[in-house]
Amino acid sequence: MATCPRCKGPLTDDHHCPKRQSLVVLEIIAAALGGGFVGLLLLAAFDPRGQIADMDVVTFVVGGAIAVGINRLIRS
Ligand SMILES: [Zn+2]
Repeated sequence: MATCPRCKGPLTDDHHCPKRQSLVVLEIIAAALGGGFVGLLLLAAFDPRGQIADMDVVTFVVGGAIAVGINRLIRS
């Protein structure tokens, strides 16, 4: 059986190279940061005068967590 040149695994018809762990971690971090910034943008959009005090960090963390969750769901 042929072997995959990238991961050295058996090259079947539906072969997919397993992702390297470091790439997965980077992807999770990127998703968390992206989701966090989206959360902050949404907070700014709904609260243009900054009336919701001290919600920046919470919004960032929640947005990041949601983004990571969605990312994991899509990838699994
Ligand atoms: Zn492969």
